[in-house]
Amino acid sequence: MDKICRQYVDNFMSELIRKNPGEAEFHQAVREVVESVAPYIMQYPYLREQKILERIVEPERVIMFRVPWVDDRGEVQINRGYRVQMNSAIGPYKGGIRFHASVTLSIMKFLAFEQTFKNSLTTLPMGGAKGGSDFSPRGKSDAEVMRFCQSFMTELYRHIGQDTDVPAGDIGVGGREVGYLFGQYKRIRDEFTGTLTGKGQYWGGSRLRPEATGYGACYFAQAMLATRGKSFQGQTVCISGAGNVAQYAAQKAMRLGAKVVTLSDSDGFIYDPEGLTEDKMNYVLELKNIRRGRIKEYADKYPAAQYFPGERPWRIPCDIAMPCATQNEIEKDDAQHLIEGGCYCVTEGANMPSTPEAIEIFHNAKILYSPGKASNAGGVATSGLEMTQNSIRQRWTAEEVDEHLHRIMADIHQACIKYGTEPDGYVNYVKGANIAGFIKVANAMAEQGVV
Ligand code: NDP
Repeated sequence: MDKICRQYVDNFMSELIRKNPGEAEFHQAVREVVESVAPYIMQYPYLREQKILERIVEPERVIMFRVPWVDDRGEVQINRGYRVQMNSAIGPYKGGIRFHASVTLSIMKFLAFEQTFKNSLTTLPMGGAKGGSDFSPRGKSDAEVMRFCQSFMTELYRHIGQDTDVPAGDIGVGGREVGYLFGQYKRIRDEFTGTLTGKGQYWGGSRLRPEATGYGACYFAQAMLATRGKSFQGQTVCISGAGNVAQYAAQKAMRLGAKVVTLSDSDGFIYDPEGLTEDKMNYVLELKNIRRGRIKEYADKYPAAQYFPGERPWRIPCDIAMPCATQNEIEKDDAQHLIEGGCYCVTEGANMPSTPEAIEIFHNAKILYSPGKASNAGGVATSGLEMTQNSIRQRWTAEEVDEHLHRIMADIHQACIKYGTEPDGYVNYVKGANIAGFIKVANAMAEQGVV
């Protein structure tokens, strides 16, 4: 990056940090995009004159609200709800809802910001948003989760709608939570519309939506591997997380011939040197989705596996790593361990799971590395397909949805190649995804005037 560009980025970031103090995750997500797109912006003066970058980091609307509910003991509980409507230049706001104790405004803003570029990359008409609460469903009864969801929606309903803002799931929000949220929305609005995605299979949900983020990440990884004449066949894969994204990334990687050796949750990870099988996968699905148990139990059930409490899986040698749990879960040392263990491909299923220091290590080692906004876009893309099916009141087969998903992931990969190929031929997927995602949103904003 030349001196003028560097100065531009530094000035921009100083102002952003001054205006948004204490929002470390938001600063991190913005810096990554600004570093990628600054050289592009320098070439097109109208983008600077229109102050596109200054506008794109300012959410169109931030809604924060009280969520009171009563737990099973009759005690009143108060959580905080959020919806960050970041950008609607290319379509109605779209993005998941996260229920986790760690949720803050900074995390909501970073996720909504990332979502804007990710949604643009999918080629579908969706703006960017994110929402959630510092409520954690972990350890709560179904009745408590339902009362919380109903209270949350009793405020949120006035800000969303099928042509306004269409939420979906994320960490802590799966089929059960989407069901309770949708039920309350329908009851208050007295309408049955596709206002949420990730709905149940018998009431408007798209086939393959539960699988889409994990499957899509594997399709993206396949495209990356193909650039080096490789495939999943015979490769050892480390996956973090044991939730929605991790489960289906593991299932697809396994079906594509890989040996998946790790899964994790926030308490630790399991290492199964023999690799997952269909039977073991079915056990994990039942353990996590029905019994809502902990991944530790896997090692009790399968004695060949070891459980490592309080650790992440990145020191296990592997060819391919797929972080599918949460932000900043691969730090500098983890990245170093991965490279030393022979890892040559990191495909992110989670949002921003690698710290900037870890990304630098991947880039310096010239390994295949894709940011979540490119490789996990299959989830929101399939949500977009769910919106289409709801609008035309049809339900596509799994084969039809899978075909769309394949094409979308291939298109995103192609866009990354187009904008991210360096002079030496190395593909910088971060740069490629950021520029490709940015161009469409920026031009739409410029064409729509100062709004
Ligand atoms: P789930 O809630 O289904 O699973 C999350 C998994 O990550 C759980 O195993 C959870 O463990 C673990 N985890 C959560 N927080 C932490 C933490 N702070 N430290 C360590 N482990 C943690 O969520 P999803 O699978 O849906 O989401 C995972 C990631 O993928 C997130 O980054 C999300 O934003 C991203 N994503 C999800 C999409 C989707 O369609 N669902 C789409 C695109 C991105 P525990 O049970 O202990 O909390």
